Amino acid sequence: MAHDAPQATGPSKLVIRNIGLLLSGAMERPILDADTITAENGRITAIGHAKDVDIEGATTIIDAHGTTVAPGLIDSHVHPVAGDWTPRQSQINWIDSYLHGGVTTMISAGEVHMPGRPRDVVGLKAMAIFAQRAFWTLRPGGVKVHAGAPVIECEMVEDDFRELAAAGVKLLGEVGLGGVKDGPTARKMVGWARKYGIQSTIHTGGPSIPGSGLIDKDVVLEADTDVVGHINGGHTALPDDQIRCICEGCKRGLELVHNGNERSALFTLRTAREMGDLSRIILGTDAPAGSGVQPLGILRMVSMLSSLGEVPAEIAFCFATGNTARMRALDCGLIEVGRAADFVIMDKAQHSPGKTLLDSVRLGDLPGVGMTIIDGLVRTQRSRNTPPATNVPEIVAK
Ligand SMILES: [Zn+2]
Repeated sequence: MAHDAPQATGPSKLVIRNIGLLLSGAMERPILDADTITAENGRITAIGHAKDVDIEGATTIIDAHGTTVAPGLIDSHVHPVAGDWTPRQSQINWIDSYLHGGVTTMISAGEVHMPGRPRDVVGLKAMAIFAQRAFWTLRPGGVKVHAGAPVIECEMVEDDFRELAAAGVKLLGEVGLGGVKDGPTARKMVGWARKYGIQSTIHTGGPSIPGSGLIDKDVVLEADTDVVGHINGGHTALPDDQIRCICEGCKRGLELVHNGNERSALFTLRTAREMGDLSRIILGTDAPAGSGVQPLGILRMVSMLSSLGEVPAEIAFCFATGNTARMRALDCGLIEVGRAADFVIMDKAQHSPGKTLLDSVRLGDLPGVGMTIIDGLVRTQRSRNTPPATNVPEIVAK
């Protein structure tokens, strides 16, 4: 099991050359005019044309063979528990499998599947701190799992949020999965979280599994979390008029998840586009869950939204990279000097009728992943999970 990801030892310089298409992750300029990237000690240091980029001192050189390089994908909504194991469907290595779907960063929306999960205040705080620590130390396959997302309960007081923040907790689990299900209490606690620098999200829509409850538009708008978690339901979505009210009633992130209602995802996408607000769209899988885990879930969302939602593929990739990075203040997700050197290298799948990678995604096909890189280190070569890419990058010097 690839639990202990390789870590950089000593100075490193990565060069990726011969890039056929460079996706930036930024909606304002989704395609960059460059064929070479360098990264030193895990950070992007140059983006340009081969003749202008200094590749002196490279420790690893990758020939992209004309394929597409994009920022590593970010899953904005996962439910990890411990290590690379989930009790939800009794699976191991699910995070490593996501890496083979191009995902290099994950955000926990609460470690809710922990068997015997404590619901008392001391217990839930302890569990959040444990999860934050454990996933920061352990990176399955190299994937950065931002975890330690407590599910809030009515007995919590402001000092609990101060204490959590001081201990390194930076996220709340989905509001509504615990005892707090009413707008006023949620708003008060989300405000405390924000005061201490803790980001928040909310469970939107009908119950996900027996024991959870309905969160409607009034609660979502009153709670005012940073992200409207699975606005397309997880799985049961709110009616379209309520989704429109949420889109129009706030400026928060609009998260679309794989384990949600796909029609509602497309409705949200169209509403956000009409409003000129596509920069609010971010993607997650909401897995592991009753629907299982989806190693290719983020790629499937990109392809679904591009093909059925009529969004250019290069923009759909921004939903899974730059939009999420900006919304969640991550140092990855954009091809920009100084950012983390997290990349996914893709090409159109073999026998896709699309002429190019972007064309194939626009037609609804999944791309083939040829390589993933995290912090400037190659983590996987040809994916074991995607359809095979037509061309794959190659490590030519090391
Ligand atoms: Zn949920």
